[in-house]
Amino acid sequence: MSTEQMTCKERVQAAVKYEDIDRLPVFKGYFSPARLVDRKMNYSFFTDAEAIAEACWQAWKYFDDDGIHLLDGGFMEEEFGADSIWPENNYPMINHILVTDHEAADALKEPDPYKDSVFTAILKATEILRKKAGDEVMVCGFINGTFNYAARLMGTENMMNYLATDPELVHKVCRKVADAQVRYAKAYGEAGIELIFMPDATSAPACISPKTYGKMALPYLKEAVKGFQDAGALAMYHPCGGEYPIIDQIGQTKADIYYFSELVELDVAQKIFVDRAAVAGTVNGSRELFLGTPEIVDEHVKGIIDRLKYRTGAIIMPGCGLSPNCKYENVKAMVDATKEYGKN
Ligand SMILES: [Zn+2]
Repeated sequence: MSTEQMTCKERVQAAVKYEDIDRLPVFKGYFSPARLVDRKMNYSFFTDAEAIAEACWQAWKYFDDDGIHLLDGGFMEEEFGADSIWPENNYPMINHILVTDHEAADALKEPDPYKDSVFTAILKATEILRKKAGDEVMVCGFINGTFNYAARLMGTENMMNYLATDPELVHKVCRKVADAQVRYAKAYGEAGIELIFMPDATSAPACISPKTYGKMALPYLKEAVKGFQDAGALAMYHPCGGEYPIIDQIGQTKADIYYFSELVELDVAQKIFVDRAAVAGTVNGSRELFLGTPEIVDEHVKGIIDRLKYRTGAIIMPGCGLSPNCKYENVKAMVDATKEYGKN
């Protein structure tokens, strides 16, 4: 097959099923495209559906990759009752730790996707983008992982302690988070989302043991993935942070795409998941994409593609979320290199 015979959407859908494709798909990944439309990352931008849609659309046009990527699936923590600080030009942060005991966990509010001011803007942006994108390209959303949200509500360090001293408290918070994730996914699905990205660095081996992962995190991640799929979206799970020790367990989530950091070799992951799930990622976001040059990125991406055994079932993308200040020319070089070396 010669190149560019398929639409972006057809290419991704076929790659996920290990079917023949014209070339490997590539995702620019997840970073705020606010500066592409001369906006600051502040509350006014994050709640402006038109601006979000325009920024994401411009980013797809500019990088010319295989997906439209919505940033940040809302700030559910606020809906749980947390108060946030909104910087002038950055992502919001939680001001106070909300859950320090069982009473506080019981008192958590039930997040409503239709009342979350950031998420309602994202839902509206999804609808706008779905109309614009038609059948050509997928609109891809973002819902944080269960442990990531729980850690923001409990404080990461505290949560790590509770895992040893009061696991029931962690379960209580995760139960509420997983239910909320499913509700958010349903709302996303109704707006027409086609893929949901879920990063969960806090349950990665960099933070907890594989045994704790299986007992404490995996059951909720399974539910979240199923919720995404029931909503009609492909589930792309990113178990960020030294993934090899849990690579035998993550398959139980039954995600459609496993999105790995640069600490995993994409060809090795592909051999493990062949015909079960697509694999994605592994382009080094710091050494090559942030500090490198387009030439260095080109060489790096070529190496990743050349080592793949199958010329399908893989999506090239940055190994993790990128800084909003990432070098656009390097991200573009990753896209171009995939188009060049990923041809079938
Ligand atoms: Zn990551």
